Amino acid sequence: MDLGLQGKVALVTAASKGLGFASAKALVGEGASVAINARHGHRLEEAGTALGADVLTLPGDVTDPDVPARLVAETVERFGSLHVLVANAGGPPNARALDVDDETLRGAIEANLLTSVRLVRAALPHLRAAGWGRICLITSSSVKQPIPNLATSNTARAGLWGWAKTASHELIDEGITLNLACPGLHRTDRIAEAGLSGRLGDPADFGKVVAFLCSEPAGFISGAALQIDGAGTLGLL
Ligand code: NAP
Repeated sequence: MDLGLQGKVALVTAASKGLGFASAKALVGEGASVAINARHGHRLEEAGTALGADVLTLPGDVTDPDVPARLVAETVERFGSLHVLVANAGGPPNARALDVDDETLRGAIEANLLTSVRLVRAALPHLRAAGWGRICLITSSSVKQPIPNLATSNTARAGLWGWAKTASHELIDEGITLNLACPGLHRTDRIAEAGLSGRLGDPADFGKVVAFLCSEPAGFISGAALQIDGAGTLGLL
């Protein structure tokens, strides 16, 4: 299947490893010009090298309010346009709902809600100028089914889903789609560090699903929160 991504320009944040890296890899595989971001320069350069010579590496903490606009500007400066945004950031710490303090909750809302909103805001003028756009926000299956002891993620990502659903409706007549990719457990360092095991998804497969959501034939898929979780979510919605 031709995903229609040849020659398109994509920015993927938080992408030196894990699900962000896999998404960038799938987009490169479809012929897109890709910029990737992460905080630690050395690992980011290694990731860029692994992805290919034409990949742009943009160091920076994407949760810093000034960074999203810079990442978008530097991508457009290098490649001349922007068509695809894959917004990702590191996950929040564990916390029980009744114990979590304001500072921890604000940190999660900053990283896992406002960062995506800022990225979309910065990217939109360029997607509009291109007359074609695909936005995919990497979130979590917690959007569909809150995860016990992860009140941080459950709160911030459900808020992002409410914002994104509204924004997707505002954008659809402009040829720009906006969807959420909601991972269940995948074999990444974050999951290994948390000591989780059992049925785990392959990040490479997740990346290909993200590339599909960002593709030409996915133009009528918008305002969706797609769980990629091996039937881990038990609810009907
Ligand atoms: P990971 O393997 O730990 O990779 C995280 C990537 O993001 C790294 O490249 C890291 O590089 C970068 N990063 C982290 N914080 C950043 C920041 N503030 N600014 C820029 N880059 C940053 O994580 P993952 O498992 O792929 O998870 C990605 C997202 O999906 C997280 O939000 C996670 O909560 C969510 N998620 C994952 C799973 C899963 O099973 N893996 C399940 C549900 C939800 P640097 O450290 O160099 O910045």
